[in-house]
Amino acid sequence: MSDSKQREQITSFARAIFDRGLTHGSTGNISLRLDDGWLMTPTGSSMGAIDPAKISRIAPDGTLLSGDPPTKEAFLHMAMYGERPRARAIVHLHSTHSVAVSCLCGLDHNNVLPAMTAYQVMRVGKLPLVPYFPPGDPELAEAVRHLAARHHCVLLANHGPVVAGSSLEDAVHTVEELEASARLYLLLKDQDYRPLDAEQVSRLEAKFPAKS
Ligand SMILES: [Zn+2]
Repeated sequence: MSDSKQREQITSFARAIFDRGLTHGSTGNISLRLDDGWLMTPTGSSMGAIDPAKISRIAPDGTLLSGDPPTKEAFLHMAMYGERPRARAIVHLHSTHSVAVSCLCGLDHNNVLPAMTAYQVMRVGKLPLVPYFPPGDPELAEAVRHLAARHHCVLLANHGPVVAGSSLEDAVHTVEELEASARLYLLLKDQDYRPLDAEQVSRLEAKFPAKS
């Protein structure tokens, strides 16, 4: 895919995410791994109005080659890419229902959401909770790194999800599934509901192994 097509792809997925209310203000960021570095949404930009020419082009050593400086949360993306060599794109959002779940007490930190639907199990899989650290704290990157090798989706406590995909489309579809699942959980958690049982989950996991 050409450089201009890649920039167009970031811009249109970012706008779609914003238009669907999955992120707000200047929150949320997207990155794409290239053969020689990264493209990343710039700091302070609204996902609803990304200027393709201002997207940050980052060299393999992390230097900014062109465009505006990258999102201040670039370190989250780098932590995830470092542990997931096959990941081609990462999306991080402050999507409301996922953030709401990330603030709840009594979560299972190894897997925040009970298995409610087959698509959740197939796309999101087990969703671990990354302990809370203030924005920019190097310990947050370390905590993400610790979980990223085994999980393509993680949920930052009191903050939001970070999702890696085999393509930008894949990462966006996964973060949307995660947000929809978080919403379902909030609707169900105080009801007498029936999650998928362990056998149903392991059958799905065997048939649809975890992705990048
Ligand atoms: Zn964030």
